[in-house]
Amino acid sequence: MEENIIRTDIPYTYQMTLQDLIHLRQRYSFLSLGFYGQSVMGKKIPYMRIGNGQRQVFYSASIHANEWINTIVFMKFIEDFCIAYEENTDIFGYSARKIYSDSSIFIAPMVNPDGVDLVLNNISHDSFYYTNAVAIAEKYPNILFPSGWKANINGVDLNLQFPANWEEARKIKFEQGFTGPAPRDFVGYGPLTEPESLALYDFALERNFRLLLTYHTQGKIIFWRYLNYEPVGAEKLGEEFAKISGYTLDDTVETNSFAGYRDWFVATYNRPGYTVETGEGENPLPITQFDEIYRDNLGILVRAAVEEE
Ligand SMILES: [Zn+2]
Repeated sequence: MEENIIRTDIPYTYQMTLQDLIHLRQRYSFLSLGFYGQSVMGKKIPYMRIGNGQRQVFYSASIHANEWINTIVFMKFIEDFCIAYEENTDIFGYSARKIYSDSSIFIAPMVNPDGVDLVLNNISHDSFYYTNAVAIAEKYPNILFPSGWKANINGVDLNLQFPANWEEARKIKFEQGFTGPAPRDFVGYGPLTEPESLALYDFALERNFRLLLTYHTQGKIIFWRYLNYEPVGAEKLGEEFAKISGYTLDDTVETNSFAGYRDWFVATYNRPGYTVETGEGENPLPITQFDEIYRDNLGILVRAAVEEE
């Protein structure tokens, strides 16, 4: 029995994430490791593909920098799936090999690598980007630095960058005082101005995703609606996710959430897209919550890949 690759007791920097994705790929040759874009600082943004089936689904995590705990959830999921595949066993009650042949799970464990590294104090204090981030943070003294940082390294909130009522998001956030680069809530000077958000957008356009999971922290809540869109099967599957995880399925029609990746996906494709807010407390959630978060979410990650009956 080989030792596990993925650690669940420490935060994952970009470098660790990349290294362990490479290790996973080396040990499990049936995985495909790819890169769908680059960050502002030039880090290649990785994704892992599990499976070669028709049902393509996309899971993304850590679009918000201080929500890095979900990166580890995805890393651990990849490894657990691979172990089940090798041993030809079930994972959360489903045959790993059947999922592999029916589905293609695209997993982007860290879509905002510069931001995560900033929060984890893993960017050289001498670098231009660090100095610039400090200058941005100083304008928002009420937001802790770097632990309150959600944006990319330019101070743009990547989840307010998508062409789904972006103007509306801009209006709301400007009224709240986020009119320029900030640790969170700045929508940018236009939609898709940041390489990380543009890369996510292109990634979806180039494929045919049946379903999207976007992982955030915190609140133990799952969102499935966007405005008046009600994609076929989305509510029912959301109810299943809630049951599996013990999280609450939010049923209100959001009136003040626009320009997010999931918003754009649902509005563009009218297919199921979910925001999962894992864990409870103040971001960044402590690593001590990892085991519980993973236990609660493993079923969602498996179930979302399975074709509806
Ligand atoms: Zn978030």
